[in-house]
Amino acid sequence: TTFEQFERHINPGLAGLLRFTGLDKVESHAEGVYVWDTEGKRYLDFLGLYGTLSLGHRHPKVVEAVKAQLDRMPMSVRVLVCEPATRLAARLAEITPGELSMVYFGNSGTEGVEAALKFARFYTGKPGFITTQGGYHGKTLGALSVTPREHYQLPARPLVPGVTVVPFGDAKAIEAAIGPDTAAVIVEPIQGEGGIRVPPEGYLREVRRITREKGVLMIADEVQTGMGRTGKLWAVNWEEVEPDILVSAKALGGGVMPISATICRPEILSIYKTEPLIHSTTFGGNPLAAAAALAAIEVTLGEDIPTRAAQMGAYLLGQLAELQKAYPEFIQEVRGRGLLVGLEFSDADIGAVVVAELATRGVLTAFGLNNPKVVRLEPPLIVEKNHIDQCIEALDGALKATQL
Ligand code: PMP
Repeated sequence: TTFEQFERHINPGLAGLLRFTGLDKVESHAEGVYVWDTEGKRYLDFLGLYGTLSLGHRHPKVVEAVKAQLDRMPMSVRVLVCEPATRLAARLAEITPGELSMVYFGNSGTEGVEAALKFARFYTGKPGFITTQGGYHGKTLGALSVTPREHYQLPARPLVPGVTVVPFGDAKAIEAAIGPDTAAVIVEPIQGEGGIRVPPEGYLREVRRITREKGVLMIADEVQTGMGRTGKLWAVNWEEVEPDILVSAKALGGGVMPISATICRPEILSIYKTEPLIHSTTFGGNPLAAAAALAAIEVTLGEDIPTRAAQMGAYLLGQLAELQKAYPEFIQEVRGRGLLVGLEFSDADIGAVVVAELATRGVLTAFGLNNPKVVRLEPPLIVEKNHIDQCIEALDGALKATQL
């Protein structure tokens, strides 16, 4: 069977985890907020590929744009100018804060972060990075080096040297950690994999003030928070902060294509004036991905998706607060912003059982990669009230079953 092949050829441990959570099923097709498995069971997708499917599955305008590009030119030759990527870069310059205006395209959030780290070294000539506890930036060697979870890091050592880890949400700790060798501070505006952790108000503004004062770059990792997820187009907009580098991925491709964009203040990429091939990749910003992103941006802005995320997020958080009152022994905290929402359970085992019970009830969720006590809810931003009610009802059933 496909599941057995997955277990043998792809990932036996993950297969075991899927079996434990009742998700040892094979996906068949998807539409909007729903996914079907090959046995015909329908699931409400409240994970959305870890925050990627902000426009739901197969948004018609994104699919249409990709199909049109597929018929014209799916791959760039790279020795001529790629029109969709160029138009996308110009569009990203318009919709990101302040002077952010030069774009490096990659194929994943991790690649976007790798590029940001290298650009920071190129520009400053310094090696050091400051990152935050619980931060998640990817698992290639550079990105992993600023993802301070020992579980992932130890078997991969030696990592990239020069990384200092400080508590998340503590701007003073960043100030204290900055030294003569620091190139950049990398931070998520709200931690996703770390367990949907929202920093104290003013944190990002403080980090910006401190980094500017000390001549250190600020890299905002908006891979998960960007494209409307938190109720504004970018999460840094909440504090009107302009980072030196903003990394976007996941939802940027409209849930149809993989793409990342590392968007920089122009002077940071001045190295390209003399060293045009210093950092490059074959598939980054390919025409299909760029077409998908252009369509995703137009839908997101045209339909004011961030405002929807804010409204539906407020509704979801309100419903979850009610649920917490009914199950105070299990649910320790409900938190988030927009439709980036987390439920912290008293321990990771309960979280896992709740994920499994939810799957039985046809709702897809998962726990944070860096914080298994937290079950995250990241539905498509096009989700409607009745979908949220369905999720809450399933959660109620799941928690009742967990109590037994
Ligand atoms: N940064 C953040 C904030 C993320 O949430 C993730 C993925 N969860 C990444 C980087 C890595 O992105 P990808 O999985 O697309 O490589």
